[in-house]
Amino acid sequence: MGKSKPKTPPEQPGQALRPETSGAGGKTAVKPGMVHPERYSEDDDRDLSLRPQNLAEFLGQASMKENLAVFIAAARKRNESLDHLFLIGPPGLGKTTLAQVVAHELGAEFKVTSAPALDKPKDLAGILTMISEKTVFFIDEIHRLKPAIEEMLYIAMEDYELDWIIGQGPSARTIRLPIPPFTLVGATTKAGNVSSPLISRFGITCRFSFYELVDMEAILRRSAGILRVPLDDAAASLLAASSRGTPRVANRLLRRMRDFAQVRSSASITRSVVEDGLARLEIDSLGLERHDREILKIIIERYNGGPVGGETLAISVGEAVDTLEDYYEPYLIQRGLLQRTPRGRIVTALAYDHLKLARKDHENSGFLF
Ligand code: ADP
Repeated sequence: MGKSKPKTPPEQPGQALRPETSGAGGKTAVKPGMVHPERYSEDDDRDLSLRPQNLAEFLGQASMKENLAVFIAAARKRNESLDHLFLIGPPGLGKTTLAQVVAHELGAEFKVTSAPALDKPKDLAGILTMISEKTVFFIDEIHRLKPAIEEMLYIAMEDYELDWIIGQGPSARTIRLPIPPFTLVGATTKAGNVSSPLISRFGITCRFSFYELVDMEAILRRSAGILRVPLDDAAASLLAASSRGTPRVANRLLRRMRDFAQVRSSASITRSVVEDGLARLEIDSLGLERHDREILKIIIERYNGGPVGGETLAISVGEAVDTLEDYYEPYLIQRGLLQRTPRGRIVTALAYDHLKLARKDHENSGFLF
């Protein structure tokens, strides 16, 4: 029987929730189910001017960009919406930015939300019934979608329709509401936690990697230009090397260096300003922050270099597992300081050298020595 089905949905979902529309880069009022792109970091609210608007301004990630440019051009030529896009990568690498850029390049509307903000199917329905054709709809943290919403999304992605339940009790029935063709951009830091039925509905997958030094320098120069703060070449390369291959970190550090230069009455950000500033912020030559070093030290000192499980480690370092796995570990792994193995996390010989800690002779990490 249809007993458990109806959950008193509004008969016209679009009227229940009217998420305000935003053009690419435009401002929106926050409504249920919607979040601002600028909520993603402490600095991003002031960072909108630094956010690239088009593909030419979106620096780095060259091969991903080249392919995307082709797919966008082809979709435009056919006058169709772009295929659904799946973006994978650690925080701060430009997933939200790229989604916005894609909308801009398509000349399409941009809407943004995150999976935790979609509490009930009507939250999703409220957005999808209000979109216009070819809208780029960005869902961040897509690995956190609730099952009921995920199922609604399958049909929306595949058939551009919504399953909607009308009425209550035995007389309840499901109708299919057509919605305009749109592009779903799903972003995640944890591709492994996204279900395969959802993954299979994305036509294009882009995997972000940490940015190369030259790209980080270019991003810093662009941001310095927008902020109108002179940045010396030597300062740019030092800052680039200290920014974890992550544009968000680079922009944040640039602002801090601007502060340090200002209080030193330095007309530009020089290498000496950056050296001094990084020392004050306790960022070392590999771009590690104090907390990164603490994580490595705890594995070495408490767990004899590892292996230690993710949850145990998260408790030991006082972090949420997600933050540890999404923010700290990817960079430590990329720098070759940490390894994730089926038995747990293990620090590498490089980490001992970097922290100038002596290695204890023990059987667990024999491969290190
Ligand atoms: P994510 O969604 O992956 O967490 P964002 O898209 O919010 O990351 O990017 C963080 C900030 O970094 C943005 O505000 C933007 O200014 C900057 N940024 C990201 N990618 C690029 C890029 N490719 N070129 C220049 N700046 C970028």
